[in-house]
Amino acid sequence: MVVMAVVTNKHRVVVIGSGFGGLFSAKALKGADVEVTLIAKTTHHLFQPLLYQVATGILSEGEIAPATREVLSKQANVAVHLGEVTDIDLEARTVTHHVLSRETVTPYDSLIVAAGAGQSYFGNDHFALHAPGMKSIDDALELRGRIFGAFELAENLAAQGRDVDHLLTFVVVGAGPTGVEMAGQIAELSRRTLKRDFRAIESRQARVILVDAAGQVLPPFGQRLGQKSQEALEDLGVEVQLGAMVTDVDERGLTVKYKDGREETIASVTKIWAAGVQASPLGKVLADQSGAELDRAGRIRVTSELTLPGYPEVFVVGDMIALDNLPGVAQVAIQGAKYSAKTIRRRIEDKPPLPPFKYFDKGSMATISRFDAVAMIGKVRLSGFIAWLMWLAVHLVYLTGFKNQFTALIHWAVTFLSNDRSQRVSTEQQIFARSALQRLPRGTSELVSEPDFERARAILEEAALEQARLTDEGERGRVPV
Ligand SMILES: Cc1cc2nc3c(=O)[nH]c(=O)nc-3n(C[C@H](O)[C@H](O)[C@H](O)COP(=O)(O)OP(=O)(O)OC[C@H]3O[C@@H](n4cnc5c(N)ncnc54)[C@H](O)[C@@H]3O)c2cc1C
Repeated sequence: MVVMAVVTNKHRVVVIGSGFGGLFSAKALKGADVEVTLIAKTTHHLFQPLLYQVATGILSEGEIAPATREVLSKQANVAVHLGEVTDIDLEARTVTHHVLSRETVTPYDSLIVAAGAGQSYFGNDHFALHAPGMKSIDDALELRGRIFGAFELAENLAAQGRDVDHLLTFVVVGAGPTGVEMAGQIAELSRRTLKRDFRAIESRQARVILVDAAGQVLPPFGQRLGQKSQEALEDLGVEVQLGAMVTDVDERGLTVKYKDGREETIASVTKIWAAGVQASPLGKVLADQSGAELDRAGRIRVTSELTLPGYPEVFVVGDMIALDNLPGVAQVAIQGAKYSAKTIRRRIEDKPPLPPFKYFDKGSMATISRFDAVAMIGKVRLSGFIAWLMWLAVHLVYLTGFKNQFTALIHWAVTFLSNDRSQRVSTEQQIFARSALQRLPRGTSELVSEPDFERARAILEEAALEQARLTDEGERGRVPV
């Protein structure tokens, strides 16, 4: 174990996470008289709203996930560390994180926890193996591999005269914004992008099914926009099955139970899970020590100052919080991050506290296909091309870094104007690496060992001597007799 000795007499702020909550907290502390240590289990800041475009070949992973270190490189009061936080000690005021098997303990004076949420399979975690969620770059690349891979395999089998229906059936579970966007994009891919690329299969025949236990598409957008979105999806060729509960998932398909009691098994190799979220397990770590309440999604009930009850130096922001029915959206995380950073600044400057946190709703939007989206801003409801243009502008503005905005714009032009997609790489490792790693009892830690430098040096010296001898004795290239 290493204790990170931050030699400073400045106020030490530790930020957990490099998502919207973590990154914007660190940025909002720019110029403050504090030492910030940002610890995150990924090296990038991920723009989750565009993950579906990585999964369907429109954008590359780098365009939606710039290196956090690079984003913060000009901010001298922040140090960035890679590692998974496994423990927070509220009494000792320390955070413990691991990289592979190395442990580091970092002390703090103020802590901002922004570890986000993962996918929830509602108690059926074994579904994850066959129906990846959509939360990380790994998820998006795995899904890209599975989607494009399914078409490849279908072409192979169809050329041998074999049945390929199970390969050309794509099921998206969950009709929220992510599910709607994924289903729309797979439909566009099969109907437009791939239509000329195969010989033995007709990609346009692919079935894209969107299932949800709820009675409508996009419930948070209200009934009218939900209905419009459903009609737009159906025009694209997506089969929308509502009131349909997924009861089982395996390698070859999934079982769906309908409201009328009917049960159906859908043969489908490629399933995508976009149905639920579960807050980071760090919420439980905080709740166990502070007595704070957790809701069903594992989100922690914070005070109206976004702090942990009884621990005013610990802030929790973003997808991890349960407060006033706030949704799990980027703006809640960004505004919470700015509020927490501002509170810390005011405390060290001995200024009076801020009024309680108040969320300002800037609206919501979701795309259905190219040139078609729905948007809700205050009481205004929009759909179609205008909503899509707004979606384009907002996503471009919030994408981090000019470099990424520029290249994303070029890739969007390619996709939206010509139907082509520039990011169609899919590899075996993208598809299978996750399940291979899960088979290792200690995960990636099993794949590394402390290097034995002395042994390595002896091997290198011996090889160099042998190379020199071959040259000196003229033995190189001589055929042995
Ligand atoms: C597919 C998808 C589409 C979305 N679309 C939209 C949209 O269109 N509009 C919108 O407003 N919102 C959207 N959201 C929601 C939005 O992305 C989240 O609300 C937002 O990212 C929450 O920010 P956060 O900082 O709380 O968490 P995150 O952004 O998830 O960041 C969490 C961070 O914590 C790190 N972390 C997690 N656990 C640990 C640990 N133990 N140790 C160290 N680091 C850890 C992660 O690596 C990550 O850096 C979408 C989400 C998804 C998944």
